[in-house]
Amino acid sequence: ELYNQIQETKGNIRVFCRCRPLNKEEISAGCASIVDFDAAKDGDLGILTGGFIKKSFKFDRVYTPKDDQVDVFADASPFVTSVLDGYNVCIFAYGQTGTGKTFTMEGTGQNRGVNYRTLEQLFQIATERSGTFMYNISVSVLEVYNEQIRDLLSTSSTSKRLEIKQSAEGFHHVPGLVEAKVDNVKEVWNVLQMGSNSRAVGSNNVNEHSSRSHCMLCIMVKSKNLMTGECTKSKLWLVDLAGSERLAKTDAQGERLKEAQNINKSLSALGDVVYALATKSCHIPYRNSKLTHLLQDSLGGDSKTLMFVQISPSDRDLSETLSSLNFATRVR
Ligand code: ADP
Ligand code: MG
Repeated sequence: ELYNQIQETKGNIRVFCRCRPLNKEEISAGCASIVDFDAAKDGDLGILTGGFIKKSFKFDRVYTPKDDQVDVFADASPFVTSVLDGYNVCIFAYGQTGTGKTFTMEGTGQNRGVNYRTLEQLFQIATERSGTFMYNISVSVLEVYNEQIRDLLSTSSTSKRLEIKQSAEGFHHVPGLVEAKVDNVKEVWNVLQMGSNSRAVGSNNVNEHSSRSHCMLCIMVKSKNLMTGECTKSKLWLVDLAGSERLAKTDAQGERLKEAQNINKSLSALGDVVYALATKSCHIPYRNSKLTHLLQDSLGGDSKTLMFVQISPSDRDLSETLSSLNFATRVR
């Protein structure tokens, strides 16, 4: 309903902004919050940029540090329902490292995020509709790092080169990628954990690695209408993007420089694609990065896109915050 209300006046892209609380370290360092939430209910956000200057931004939703995972998912849930109605959907979290992208998407054991809640809802609706529809749900978990795709559900020790192919019907897929069939929400948590655990393999610093790679969960839903026999196939992408921060120029050498260039390349490619869609451009540059190429079926056309722009409240992060908010404003 929420979706259909805004649907009438705008395109298929929604942008929700979420601000995390100040953390202990910031509080003890004397950092101040620069975010004004006075009109957050109307989707307005103010950033105090110094002196009396306030810069205003408008989003479809604004979450304050007090809003929890349930509040956030309540607004994301219409997108999930759309998947069972045959739409392709893409939900992604964008922002500087440490702003809560993983918290929003993955969440924690106690405070589960969008990924788990999405699957929980899919199974719940599938059960409710089981008299009329038969659903088949499977998931893939992958990572894009340095423009290379890594299968996080693969148990094989030899990593084969994974490439994106287009099927005769025009669907994009990755031959050889594990598609784990899941029958209930209990299995889901195990699969998600497995994906998340294999992210760590081969990297000496897990957090650092995850801030430099895109973690992508793909949920494929096949449905059969038991009355009419009609079958549909749809795809939902849930993406925890690499950190959007610019690396200090002096830090970037060798591998680091290559990583930074690939992150910039894929995030700006994503920005370009979403902007091209928002402005109804006739050429959508999907092929400029692995990220946008993978997401192609779920970005544009009649698919639905939700972007979480994650920000820090701290004055110390002002310039990265403005850069994220500008990115998000450009695509809306
Ligand atoms: P990112 O993935 O963007 O690097 P994380 O999700 O790892 O950021 O979040 C950084 C830290 O802040 C984590 O300890 C996380 O639990 C905490 N955090 C993020 N968002 C929130 C929030 N809305 N409420 C409480 N804690 C949060
Ligand atoms: Mg993270």
